[in-house]
Amino acid sequence: MQHRFARTLCACAALSAMLTSGHAAELDPQPLQPQLQQVIDKMTPQLRSVYEDLHAHPELGFEETRTAAKLAAEMRQLGFEVTEGIGKTGLVAIYRNGAGPTVMVRTELDALPMEEKTGLPYASKAKAQYNGKESFVTHSCGHDMHMTSWLGTAQALLALKAQWKGTLMFVAQPSEETVTGARAMLADGLFKKFGKPDYAFALHTGPMPYGTVGYVAGPATSNSDSLDITFHGLGSHGSMPEKSIDPVLMASRFVVDVQSVISREKDPAEFGVVTVGAFNAGSAGNIIPDQARLLGTIRSYKSEVRSKMHEGIERTAKAQAAMAGAPAPEVKLLKGSDAVVNDPTLVGRTVKIFKTALGDKNVIPVPPASASEDFSDFINQGVPSMFYILGVYDPKRIAAASQPGGKPLPYNHSPFFAPDVDPTIKTGVQTMTLAVMNVMQ
Ligand SMILES: [Zn+2]
Ligand SMILES: [Zn+2]
Repeated sequence: MQHRFARTLCACAALSAMLTSGHAAELDPQPLQPQLQQVIDKMTPQLRSVYEDLHAHPELGFEETRTAAKLAAEMRQLGFEVTEGIGKTGLVAIYRNGAGPTVMVRTELDALPMEEKTGLPYASKAKAQYNGKESFVTHSCGHDMHMTSWLGTAQALLALKAQWKGTLMFVAQPSEETVTGARAMLADGLFKKFGKPDYAFALHTGPMPYGTVGYVAGPATSNSDSLDITFHGLGSHGSMPEKSIDPVLMASRFVVDVQSVISREKDPAEFGVVTVGAFNAGSAGNIIPDQARLLGTIRSYKSEVRSKMHEGIERTAKAQAAMAGAPAPEVKLLKGSDAVVNDPTLVGRTVKIFKTALGDKNVIPVPPASASEDFSDFINQGVPSMFYILGVYDPKRIAAASQPGGKPLPYNHSPFFAPDVDPTIKTGVQTMTLAVMNVMQ
């Protein structure tokens, strides 16, 4: 991406102009580009080795002790004040650089309980206990890349500290994959002890070309809630259904009918998904069991849609039981993480700076994701924020994959997910550094 920085304005002249002109409302990225690029090029080999080390040593949620210790040591060396053990394994690193806003940059620490199949020389062979069983552990969501960009951004900001003012609040959260880590840090007093930031940023890798970023104003990820419904019936011999109240039939009807909440009750123009992913009932073919338990997930972007779906799901479950003459079912609809809603003003401001840095065509509007993220727990405390997507693949591979018959590239959570390391780190550090500096002028 070096060619994009070919405009050779004199960085030193621009810097002194900036220092003498007093407070500037917005960052002018043009004169900064060559200087930032130089800083990034210099630190990329070291960041690559950090990345490979993190990648080879993944840890599951709330067990990220080695990972957190490594980040803490790196940040201390840079001169940040580091506090570990917030929300069990989370950490916060503070750097004060004069009067100005406090800006939070978030990374996740955790990996996934799955086997890596990339065959890379630094592929993970790690194993850990997961739900009582031994499991492989892999950074297949890209959190290792997020940590590397986070460290690189801290380094770049310190190298350019004459050009911004305020307080950096670098937060590394545990257990994003279970969407409980952010909450744990907040419950441990993150914003009470260290102050609530004025802005927050986070990035997430995605299967887009490297050198590009994806953005959306408004909802960027979905509300994610869980469904746990138990239908109570009356058990009987399989040959004597008249003596039973069949919970399998009730639950089956529910699985089918609940989709009409999506197709007939919710506004078709609004996003909403309900999936029953686990159906547990019975033990043998000739026994009508006395209960059936369903587990599922409910996704939405808007709170009105979310409430409408919850209400419809509960009503549908109760109706099935009433129709069968069964007792009321146990309906547990638990609210999980909220949608990450990007602040449109901050997105507008940041996108402008990204376009100057990467070129207009490389800053791509993307639809909101149906996946969820607990970055929302931080920003729902009233922090204007932006969560954006960082491309990871060679543009040529993306082009080949999009040809008819082309093999799709692995998404996050695939055992084959493998970002192209150097260019992804560079764009990650470049964009995050600019995003932060842009609000610290
Ligand atoms: Zn993930
Ligand atoms: Zn992730």
